[in-house]
Amino acid sequence: MYLFQNKSGPTSWGAASGNGGGSRNSSKDPEIKLIREANTVDLQKVFDHYNLELNEFNRKIVCPFPHHQDDTPSFYYYINEHEKSFYCFGCKVGGRAVEFVSEIENISKYDAAVKLTSEFETNISSIVISNVSEKRELMLNFSNHIRNFIQSDIDDDNRLAFAEQLTLVFDTLNTKHKLETEGVKSLISKLKIRLDKWQQH
Ligand SMILES: [Zn+2]
Repeated sequence: MYLFQNKSGPTSWGAASGNGGGSRNSSKDPEIKLIREANTVDLQKVFDHYNLELNEFNRKIVCPFPHHQDDTPSFYYYINEHEKSFYCFGCKVGGRAVEFVSEIENISKYDAAVKLTSEFETNISSIVISNVSEKRELMLNFSNHIRNFIQSDIDDDNRLAFAEQLTLVFDTLNTKHKLETEGVKSLISKLKIRLDKWQQH
């Protein structure tokens, strides 16, 4: 357990999530939006997914993050109707679902958001697509992007792994009866952003 030295302290736990302090570049907006959406995933469900043994008595446990060798419980969490967040006083990491998955999986916030939106039910006030042709058009658009992405000759070790991840997301979306328009659209824009980044290299 480290000394508490952050003067903003507990009141800022829930505010640690979001865009990660990045620039206000408008091209990052879809990325920020996806992270924001993914952070609506119930932290309790995420904890359950990672088999965290919670301590309901004092709400602090040994930090579960792989990069932190915690010898005493430094990881505090709030799971109630007003607040769903965590903060580790040892490694000074806090936030909500995205930050948790990002740390425990050692992946970027964006990758954590994709994982969350594909594997967990979100509370996004989304439009359920009832129109079959709209669904087909979205799926076609998405799969075209994945194919272009895989076929592009960008030399990057992470490229195929990323494409695999997207294909998985696509499959999940496609097999779900309830298809979220906004979720699919934001994934497509994420894909475009990622592809643009690689092409600029
Ligand atoms: Zn920690």
